[in-house]
Order: sequence, then C-alpha cells, then structure tokens
Amino acid sequence: MYMRVLLLLLFFISLNLYAQNSSVDLEYYFSNQNNLFDESIPTPESIIGHQVGEWHITHDKLIQYMEELAKSSERITIENRGYTYEDRPLVLLTITSKNNHKNIDKIKREHKAITDGNNSAGLTSLPLVIYQGFSIHGNEPSGSNASLLLAYYLAASKSNFINSLLENTIILLDPSFNPDGLQRFSYWANTNRNSNLNPDPNDREYNEIWPGGRTNHYWFDMNRDWLPVQLPESRARIKSYNEWAPNILTDHHEMGTNATFFFQPGIPSRTHPLTPELNQKLTKMIAEYHVKEFNEIGSLYYSEESFDDFYYGKGSTFPDINGGIGILFEQASSRGHIQESDNGILTFPFTIKNQFTAAISTLKAGLNLKENLLEYQYNFYKNSREEALKFKNKGIIFGDNKDRARTIHLAEILRRHEIDFYGIKKDVRHKGVKYKKDHAFVIPKNQKKSKLINAMFESRTEFKDSLFYDVSAWTLPLAFNLDYDMNIDMNIAEKTKNSNILTLNNGGVTKKTNYAYLMEWHEYYTPKVLDEILNNNMIAKVSLKRFKIDDKTFDYGTILIPVFNKEVDSKYNFLDNLAKNSSITIHGVDTGLGEGIDLGSNNFRKISKRKIALLVGEGVSPYDAGEIWHLFDTRYDITLTKLDVRNLSSTNINKYTTIIMPSSKGLNSNNSTKIKKWIENGGTLISYKNSLKWAEKNNLVKYNFKKTERTAININFEQKRNYFGSQAIGGAIFNAKIDRTHPINFGFKNNSISLFRNSTLFIEADKDSYNNPIIYSEKPLLSGYISEENLNNLKLTVPLKINKINKGKIISITDNTNFRAFWYGTNKLLVNAIYFSDQF
Ligand SMILES: [Zn+2]
Repeated sequence: MYMRVLLLLLFFISLNLYAQNSSVDLEYYFSNQNNLFDESIPTPESIIGHQVGEWHITHDKLIQYMEELAKSSERITIENRGYTYEDRPLVLLTITSKNNHKNIDKIKREHKAITDGNNSAGLTSLPLVIYQGFSIHGNEPSGSNASLLLAYYLAASKSNFINSLLENTIILLDPSFNPDGLQRFSYWANTNRNSNLNPDPNDREYNEIWPGGRTNHYWFDMNRDWLPVQLPESRARIKSYNEWAPNILTDHHEMGTNATFFFQPGIPSRTHPLTPELNQKLTKMIAEYHVKEFNEIGSLYYSEESFDDFYYGKGSTFPDINGGIGILFEQASSRGHIQESDNGILTFPFTIKNQFTAAISTLKAGLNLKENLLEYQYNFYKNSREEALKFKNKGIIFGDNKDRARTIHLAEILRRHEIDFYGIKKDVRHKGVKYKKDHAFVIPKNQKKSKLINAMFESRTEFKDSLFYDVSAWTLPLAFNLDYDMNIDMNIAEKTKNSNILTLNNGGVTKKTNYAYLMEWHEYYTPKVLDEILNNNMIAKVSLKRFKIDDKTFDYGTILIPVFNKEVDSKYNFLDNLAKNSSITIHGVDTGLGEGIDLGSNNFRKISKRKIALLVGEGVSPYDAGEIWHLFDTRYDITLTKLDVRNLSSTNINKYTTIIMPSSKGLNSNNSTKIKKWIENGGTLISYKNSLKWAEKNNLVKYNFKKTERTAININFEQKRNYFGSQAIGGAIFNAKIDRTHPINFGFKNNSISLFRNSTLFIEADKDSYNNPIIYSEKPLLSGYISEENLNNLKLTVPLKINKINKGKIISITDNTNFRAFWYGTNKLLVNAIYFSDQF
C-alpha cells in the first residue's frame, strides 16, 4: 500500500517536472548575459500575467507591456504609426540612452544627413541606427515573444555593455511587424494548449486551420511588400525606415520544426547584382557575433546554404539597396508550445531564447562595427550619387494617357520611398508614345536613390543562378502596364517636385442631359462605378464597337447609361456623385446619333447585375484568394461573398452569377458535380492556375496543355534538386498580344500587355485566331528568369481560355492577374471576365 502511494506520488512529481520543463524563468533566457537589473522596471511577467513562453503573447498584451515599459523607463519612447486593417496599432519603440533621447530629433536629422553626403567628418561621433523587427509572419511567433525580453533587457540591464550600447546606438524596436497575423496565431496556439504540454506533432495545436496566422487580414505575405508598399503595415514601417535610414535591419522568422537556426549571409550566388559586395562582407562580419553567442549557449545554426538576397521586397533584402545591412533570422518553429523534432523536444521558450540571443549578438556586432557600418552607408550614397551624375539631365518617363489612376498609384510608391519625380510641362510625344500632361511623370536619374530606382524599373533577363527563393522580376511600370521609357530629357519636367501632384482627378459628369451618359472603360476605378449603377437597377450597356459622338471618339467597352427622359435630375446627381467619388469622367450627350454606330445600336449590349462569390478555404491558395478579396473590397468597393469550400455542399449557389476559383487543389467529387451543374445552368466560373488541373480532371474542359518530357543527362544526385528547381517559374514577366475588339480586353489601350506568371501551365492556342484574345508573343520574356525549355514552350501559347458549357462558361487563366496588390496592370482582365462574360 505504502509502496503504491509512493509510486503514485513519484509519478505525479515526474509529470509535474515534465510540465515545468517548459516553464522557465528570466534566468533561462538571460543565461549568457549580465544579469544586473534595475528593479523599478517591470518584468514582462508582472504585466502580462505569465512568464514569456508559457503562453503565446497576444498582440494586445504585447502592446500593453511595451506601453508600461515606455512609461517606466527613460531609455524608451513609444509611438503609434498607424493601424492594421483590423485596427491594431502599429507601434515602434525608440530605445537609447537618456542623453540621446534629449537630442533625438537632432540625432535623427544628422543621421539622415549621412545619406546626403553631409557629416563625413563627424561620422564616428554619430550613433548607429539598428532596426529590429519581429514575426512578419504571424505564425512564426518566437520573434514577437522574444521582443518582450529584448525590450525588458534594454530597459532594465545595468551592464556596461548595455550602457555603452545605448550611448552609441539608436534601437528601433518593432515588436510585431504583423499584428493581425500574430493575434490570429496566438489565439490558435493558446486555445489548443494542453496543461500537460503535448509534443505530439499530430495534436491539433500544431495544425492551424486555413488560412493560418502567417498573413495579414487580407492574407498577404507581408514580407513581399517592402518594395511595392501597398499595405498599411508596410506604409508605416517604410515611413519609419526613411525617417531613420537604419544601418542594420533584422527580420526574425521561423522555419520548419526539424531545422536549427539560420542567419545570413544566404546563398552567395543569389545575391542581387545591384547589391554592393561590401554589403555581404559586412553581413558575414556581423555573423561572427552570432556564431560566438550561439556557440556559448550550445544551439545549432547554419548560414549560406539557403535563403537569398535577391528580391528587394523582402525585409532582409530591402536594406541592401538602401545603404544598410538586412539580416534574416530563421528559427526552427515549435509552432505551438512544445514539439518533437529531429533535434529532440523543441520547446517554445528555446525558440524564444535563440531569437533573443540573435538580437543581442546583432547589437554587439553593431556596437563593435559601428564605424564600418556608418562609413559603408556614407559611401553607398556617395557612390550612388557619383554614378548618377553620368545621367545628368536624363530621366525615366511613365504614364498612361487614358488612365490617370494607375499612373498616380505608381507615383505613390516612389513618394513612399522618398524618390524625387516631376510632372511634365505639356503633352509630349516620345518614341511614338503620347504622354499627356497630368497623366505622366518623370524621374530624374541623377538623385541619391538612383540604385533603388534601378531596382524598381530595370528589366533583367540574365542571371548567375537559376534558382530563386521568390520572384525573379518585379519591374514596376510593367506591373502597372504603363507606357514608359528609361531615357528622356529632363527639360520636359515641371519645376516643382512631387509635393502636390498626387491627387486623383476630381472626375464628374460633363453635363446634365435627358438623353444618355457615356463612360469609357480605361480608367482604373470604372468597375466601381459600373457595379454601383447596376446595384441601383439602372440600365447599363457596353459597346462592342468604337464610335464617335460630339466629336469625341469612344473606345471599345464604353458604358452607355440611357436616361429615357426620366428622373433627369436624380440620375444626373447620382452619376455625378459616383463619378466624383471614383475620379472618373462621365460624358453627358444630347443625341443618339454617332459616327460608326448610334446609341440605339444592337452593338450596345445590356450588362446584367452580378452576384459574385469567391471560393476560399482548405485547398485554396490563401494568397491568391486574398488578393482578389482585397481588390474588390478595398479598391472597387464591390461586395463579394467568401464561400468556404467546407460549406459548399450545403450552400445554395444558384443566386451567384459568377464564382471565382483561385488557384487551388480542386474540389471533392460532390462539389465538382455541383459546380458543373451550376455552370450548365448559366453560371460563369473564373478559374485560376492550378484549378485548371481540377477542371481538366473533372472533364469540364480539355485544355491541350503542352507537355515537356525531360530526361536528366549528366545530372548526379547532388544536382537533382537544382535541376528541377531551375524548371520552375518563380515569378517573371511576359509579353502578350491582345485583340482589343474582344470584350475580355476592353479598357486596355495598347495592343500588348505584360503579364505576371508563376506557373508552368502552357495552353496551346486555338486554331481559330478569334478564339485567342490574348496570346504570348514570339519573344515573350520581358523580365525575370525562365529556363530555355519553358520559354520555348511558352511562346505563342495562351494565358486565357474561354469554354462554353451549355448555358454557362468557364474562363480559365494560367497567370496571376492580381499579384500581391501591386499588379494594377491586369486587374481589368478579371473584372471584364465578370461583367462582360455575356458578350463572348
Ligand atoms: Zn517567415
């Protein structure tokens, strides 16, 4: 009996020990650091109610602690720089000595002046600026959780190192790059946590439901938006970045559970050629400090074998084209609180400890390499300016004489990066293209950010490596489908800079009429207007022909809104308001008599009201779905229903005219049958990328995909991965010819467009040319990497196919027309597929 009680007791003690193994104290995290603390500074536990690592920090608690810290420490100030889509604050802590805080504005000014070539003499007397940012992927939470420890340590430590560090450094601590994602993930990990932590990877805790916490509210990967700056989180961040011009920026991530810890440099051959060599050398010098610290705490690590510094839209690469050093950290993820891994039991606190350690080793490196880094920054801009001098009085022009909005939106990106640009004095014709005043801008090449401008505007088709961690091209004027030229004389520019020219046109109705209104389809925000007209049960028709009325030519796709001599005032007011709100011009006409066709012609076709659903959920690419949701919700103000595939079998889908199926793994057979019936009864399915494979497999469409048979010759086992990798299209830009008379292309003013593609689905063109409204040209590569075999396959194939099935149709698209919110140039294709599908 006694024995049994003892055994039972021992059993409970051991269970308890196991549970406690993962509960840790501050000693655990700071084991390798000096532990003398100012006791007036609150520990994280005293505010958030648990030790760091015991639970996943929610964003609201994270902010609560940071605010308390700022209140109690003279080393810290906190600011809110804006809000996420879910209205969470985007805070930034500025951490430095009390003395530096007194002169913070002066220090900021002087530090920024380094980039202007001032301060060369006093360079070494200036503090270094280090921006430390965490968990841009919300379900890679060790970073944000470590930020609690880092902020506490910097506020409370009385060590000589910290004192000297704070005298010599301004630390910008961004505790959560992605508040909405962090909140979503912490909810998941905490609600599924067991009191007795369970390391079994099969536990629900480690298997998040769709779409997971990686992305922001609209399911964007925010670590791709540093260059396009389309999302509110990025806008706030880039603004701070440009205020301070940091010397080092760190980006703390997580990777697979079986991995160890990665710090940059990444794969050397994959560094972008515009990045100076010294940048990678300094990255390596900084890495020596991580090595030392990780050796001391006994944590495995590696570098140079994976990840790269190619795409400048990533946090760890963006600084490399801005005179700083970007550093990527990747920690093996426990994903929840504790998980079995190839390296034994991986606890959440251990992952946090590694992130904290890397943050401290970065600061040590910064303090010791301060002079090198300041000098590097100074020389980076000095060299940029000297190189740019060669292009004195030369500039880049871009614009669209039919669509001011897209022109403005590209210019906004320039302004966010503090790049100078000008309007043009009057209309110009340059290399056969007409650039209209107020619809075009010029960027002088001779300015300090010349390298960044290059990184945004260049087209590159030659590469050292054939593997890319992300896209290989992002040429912005191509993404916006704007007319542009890389070489124009700056004397066409207006005198004043970009300050006040970035407002959209006011728009409006040209005159009140009792006859009809006409709206051309080129402007970016016309879909918003059309949808609102249809929602108000007004009649709208689309023109299949070009025509002339009142001496003005109206292009294919012009929308006609007849008045019928009824409700003349209310119609005018409604349309005028709508046009003003959307910055669109609507023309009032008093006659139906046109040249070409008259307004009563059968070539004006009625557009019916649309009810749109977007398939989302398990198996659907959250990125592709999120891009579409974001486009309609935030730009066009068009409501679409997010239809979760989980509920599809029990949902009445007959009320939808249009269903958009983003790239996906397809649907189960019941749902496939249901969708097929819905199409046969008159529905329009718009299907993207991998969903085409589903459509073919379920006998909805026969695409005639081009197939490539490849046999590896002289490729050994070690080379196998690269061999296959080089056949992927990570993301590149291609040219296609368009048939402007086809309704799918209404609104495009040129005869060709640039498309973004990251798939290897090649559809053979139809033998009847009128069935190929968009066709890749003979030499389609505009920018980016594609293997020779794939390029051969791609030419003269089609990215879009229209198939009728009984009363309905499928519109299939192999490319991404809405890529990452900055591919403004092809958004119209999706819109046309929705509103004009009855016309083809
Ligand atoms: Zn990540």
